Amino acid sequence: MSDFDSASLLDPPPFPAERVAGLADRLARLMGTSGDVLLVQAEAVVALEAVAASLGRPGFKAVNVVTSPYGVWFGRWLRRAGASVVEIRAEAARPVSARAVAAALDAHPDAKLLAVVHAESASGIRNPLEAILRLARERGIISVVDAVASLGGHVFAADKLGADIVVTGPQKALGGPAGISAVAVSKRAWAEIDRPDAPVTSTLSLVDQKRLWLDAGRGALPGTPSPLELWALEAALDRVEAEGIAQIVHRHAEAALAARDGLKALGLVAWAVPEEASHLITAFAPPPGVDATALLESLKAADPEFSFGVGAGADRLIRLNHTGRRADSVVVHAMISAIAAALRP
Ligand SMILES: *Cc1c(COP(=O)(O)O)cnc(C)c1O
Repeated sequence: MSDFDSASLLDPPPFPAERVAGLADRLARLMGTSGDVLLVQAEAVVALEAVAASLGRPGFKAVNVVTSPYGVWFGRWLRRAGASVVEIRAEAARPVSARAVAAALDAHPDAKLLAVVHAESASGIRNPLEAILRLARERGIISVVDAVASLGGHVFAADKLGADIVVTGPQKALGGPAGISAVAVSKRAWAEIDRPDAPVTSTLSLVDQKRLWLDAGRGALPGTPSPLELWALEAALDRVEAEGIAQIVHRHAEAALAARDGLKALGLVAWAVPEEASHLITAFAPPPGVDATALLESLKAADPEFSFGVGAGADRLIRLNHTGRRADSVVVHAMISAIAAALRP
């Protein structure tokens, strides 16, 4: 941080329009999709909101899995667009079961969409994505997967999983900028999005992106391209490809294992069992008798990246962030040492 010079961000050259499509193609390879990849010049929640705004409409029914505030918001955006939404709520800060998803889909055979988050950074849990998407495929309904946190943290292959719409961003496991994100859209999903009544002239409109960017030959992005974000995305993709996505996933798995082992050595237990855990963060409940707020304060003094979880059931858990560049044994060991010091009587 000490040699960071914000003035170096001034007056960047325009990002070459002919390289924008290449960025989308490189993200498509990382996502394992043969569908179209759209770039959204905003953080990933905006891309999620665009998906909901573009799919939702009166008469459209969706089954929405809620395992964190992101799922809550997605359902709200679908409803705002006029859709009817059946919510599946897992136990607080726990993954949903494929059985619960199957029951909801069976109870609502008229549902056209299943939405789910892959891995949660809010609580450190991971949903059984493969089994869940198999249920959607068996019923011929399209799926939306929030892979914002999981891409780069877990093996992810959209086509193989049968994920129709995938939202992701470079700023989590891929270690890139936070102001740009991506949406993969399969052919089947376009049939639900590209309709005469689809919202247009809106930054949330995926149909606008189709007409103004894809169908126009993928030159400059519609609107004003942000060179800072595009250059940063290109640099992030260069670094990701140089390391290799498999190695990045491996690095996150190792970091998660080191965090789990470190907590265990201190007599603490990771919130999620390994089969249900994400590799992005590890959460733990403060030991009985320890004031959670005071503990977090002293941990933050050692590393400001310590935080409470987010959402019901997670907001008193303490999170160890080992996402992106922090998926590193040195960082994890320093966090474990900080916890040991903070808990020392
Ligand atoms: C971080 C995150 C988001 C939101 O991404 P932003 O880029 O911060 O808007 C959405 N879903 C999940 C699962 C996330 O971890």
